[in-house]
Amino acid sequence: MAARQVDTTLPKDVPTQLLIGGKWRPAHSSQTLAVSDPATEQVVAEVADGSVEDARLALEAAVVAFSGFKKTSAYQRSRWLRSWFEAILAHRDPLARLITIENGKPLTEALGEVDYAASFVEWFSEEAKRVYGRTIPATTTDRRLLAIRQPVGVVAAITPWNFPAAMITRKLAPALAAGCTVVLKPASLTPLTALYLAKLWQEAGPPDGTLNVITTSQASAVADAWMSDQRLRKVTFTGSTPIGQELIRKSADQVQRLSLELGGQAPFVVFDDADLDLTIAAMLVSKFRNGGQSCVASNRMLVQRNILAAFTERATAATAALRIGHGLTPGVEIGPLIDRPGRQKVLDHIADALAKGAQVQTGGRALDGSGFFVQPTVLSGVQPGMRVMEEETFGPLVAISAFDTEEQGVALANSSPFGLAAYAFTASAGRAWRVAERLEYGIVGLNEGLPSTAQAPFGGWKLSGIGREGASEGLDAFLEEKYIAWGGIDA
Ligand code: NAP
Repeated sequence: MAARQVDTTLPKDVPTQLLIGGKWRPAHSSQTLAVSDPATEQVVAEVADGSVEDARLALEAAVVAFSGFKKTSAYQRSRWLRSWFEAILAHRDPLARLITIENGKPLTEALGEVDYAASFVEWFSEEAKRVYGRTIPATTTDRRLLAIRQPVGVVAAITPWNFPAAMITRKLAPALAAGCTVVLKPASLTPLTALYLAKLWQEAGPPDGTLNVITTSQASAVADAWMSDQRLRKVTFTGSTPIGQELIRKSADQVQRLSLELGGQAPFVVFDDADLDLTIAAMLVSKFRNGGQSCVASNRMLVQRNILAAFTERATAATAALRIGHGLTPGVEIGPLIDRPGRQKVLDHIADALAKGAQVQTGGRALDGSGFFVQPTVLSGVQPGMRVMEEETFGPLVAISAFDTEEQGVALANSSPFGLAAYAFTASAGRAWRVAERLEYGIVGLNEGLPSTAQAPFGGWKLSGIGREGASEGLDAFLEEKYIAWGGIDA
C-alpha cells in the first residue's frame, strides 16, 4: 500500500456555509457538519448543517428567483452556463483535490470526474438554445394548434457522494438551461465539492437565488420541507433505490415530477469469442473506477465456461497489480471506500460468498490501520444465491460466475430486478446485436466498459430508476409541455 502520509490541506477559497438567495450564511441553528477524509478518517472541514428552517428559506429564494429567471432568454442562460463551464475547467485542480479528499478516489480519476462534470455544463449550454416547440395541423381552417415547452418550475436536486461533482452538474446544467431555479442538497459526506461548484456558478454572474445549496445531516426532514410545498415542481434524485422509492411516495401529495437515477447490479457478460485484452481492460475500468463505487460498476462477471480459466487468471493478475492507497499519492489506482458501512458491505459480500463455496483468487481482506480500505479482490466459483449476485456491492470485488450457452448468459444477466447498465463482450457482430437487444437494461456497453457520456441518454429500467440524464432527454426532464389551441383565425 502506498504511504498514507499526504498533505490534505484544502484549497483556500472553499465555501463552508449555505448558499441562499445569493448570500453565504451559517445554518439557522449555527450547527456544523464534519467532513472527513475516508483514507485517514480525519476531519478535514466543518460545513453548515442546514435545518428545515434553512431549507424553507432556500425554497423561498428559488421561488422568487424563478419569476425572473424563466423570462431570461435561452441565449443568456447559455452564456451563463458557458462561463460556468469555463470556470470549472479553470479550477480543475482545486476541484479534483476536493473530490479526492472528501470522496477518496485517486486524483487522476478526480481530474477525470471534473472534466466529465464540466462536459454536462458545456453540452447543456448548447442544448439550452434548442428547446423547440411544434405546430400541429388542425381539422378546421380557423384554428392553429401549437405545442410549446416551458421550464417545469423550481427543482430540488438531491445527489450522492460517489461522483460529488458530476452528479450535480448532470442535474443542474439542464435545469438551469431550461430556466428552472434549483435547491440542491448534496451528499452529507461530500459537501465541499458542491459548495465550490455553487461558488463558481455564482461567479458566472446569473441572478441570485437561481442556485441555493443546503448542506445538512437531516436529509429526510429537508426533503419533506421541500416536497410538502406545492411550489416545488420537480425532484431530481441520484442515490439508492430505497430512498428513491421513499421520494416516489413523498411526491404523491403535490404530484411533483420525478427523475430518479437509482442503484444497479450490472452484469459483465464475456462470451468465448471475446478479445480478452480488450475485455480485461474494460473490466478494470468498469469494476474499479471509484473503487467499484459506481452505479454502473460491473457487479457480476458472467463468463462462458470454456474461457473461464483464462479469464480468471488474467482478471486475477490485473487486479492483484492495482496499487492501493491515499488518492493524493501519485500512482495510486484504488482509494478507500467511502465509510465504515460501505467497507463492511463489501466484506459481508466476500464472507457470504466464501461461506457458500466461492474461492478467493486474490485480496479478500480489509487493510489494517486507519482508512476504509479493502484489498481489490477476485472471487471464483460464484453462484446465484450469493449476495454479490443479487445486491449492489459498491466495492472492489470481482465476482466470477460461469455459464454455458448464449441463452443462459443472457438469462443470468437479466435475472435481476435492477436494470441500469450491462456489458457484453464478443467478436461476433450478430451476437453483439442479439444480446444488446435482449438485455433488459437502460445502458449496454458492447465491447466497452465506460459508456457514460454527456450526449447520450443515461438511466435505468426497472428498480434502477425513472427518466434519463444527459442528451436531449436530459433537458426534456426540466420542461413542461403546453398545448395552445388558437381559434378565430380566418383562413
Ligand atoms: P443514498 O443514501 O440514497 O443518498 C443519496 C442522497 O440522498 C444523499 O444526498 C442523501 O443524503 C440523500 N438522502 C438520504 N436519505 C434521504 C431521505 N430519506 N430523503 C431524501 N434524501 C435522502 O445513496 P448514496 O449511498 O449516497 O449513493 C449510492 C447509491 O447511489 C448507489 O445505490 C448507487 O448505485 C446510486 N447511484 C446511482 C446513479 C445513477 O445514475 N443511477 C449514479 C450514482 C449513484 P445524506 O448524504 O445526508 O445521506
